[in-house]
Amino acid sequence: MTLTQKKNRLGVLLLLEILMGAAFWIGTFNISSRGHEQARQKACFAAQQVLANAIEDAQMGHPGTFAIQPGPFSQEAESDLLRKSFLKVPVLSRLPSQECSIHICTLESGLSRSLYCAHHGALDVNLSPEDCPAWIPLNQRPWKVFHPGDASCLLLAMVLFLPLGFLYFQQQRRLPGLLLLRGFLFIPGFLGDRALPFFIGVLFSGLTALAVGFLLWEAVGIMVSGKASNDSTL
Ligand SMILES: [Zn+2]
Repeated sequence: MTLTQKKNRLGVLLLLEILMGAAFWIGTFNISSRGHEQARQKACFAAQQVLANAIEDAQMGHPGTFAIQPGPFSQEAESDLLRKSFLKVPVLSRLPSQECSIHICTLESGLSRSLYCAHHGALDVNLSPEDCPAWIPLNQRPWKVFHPGDASCLLLAMVLFLPLGFLYFQQQRRLPGLLLLRGFLFIPGFLGDRALPFFIGVLFSGLTALAVGFLLWEAVGIMVSGKASNDSTL
């Protein structure tokens, strides 16, 4: 193999190595953040319940003094509930996620009303686009690199894993230990939940950094030997 071929191969290996490391890191981060997202959803439902109870108290205790319309649950409505002591502490400013936004929907063709979050939905309400227009169904949300519970990046890392191993074997005539070790890490990374994928991700990132460092070291070695052979031909 000529020096240029060797350099090109190493360049491809380096690129694949970085891509695979990034893909795996994103994948494990997504899976480990799913648990956090579930906790935020739970907190959001709890906040909705507090508001729903306050509205119910206001409407039951003093009929006609508190009216609530379908649409966004406004800051004014909350202030009104606080002023009349149906609500003890503010809720809207303490929602668990920045994407939370509380709305009121009509149910059973306007007979009753319920609360829902545009991001998290509602605990026991069947969210339909007609009744709850602010709710964005999960399959209609814009694609994000970081998406809790999404394993697509892990699949991408696995697709990159095979050509990387093949290229390395072609060049070095042996399988890289680091690559094999990370191959084993795929399995618990897929099966695990919450904390486990995160720690495996950290371990994987460390191994990737080592592999990138090793490839860079080889690249420098090839450059130096190329320089030496150029010098000797002069
Ligand atoms: Zn929410």
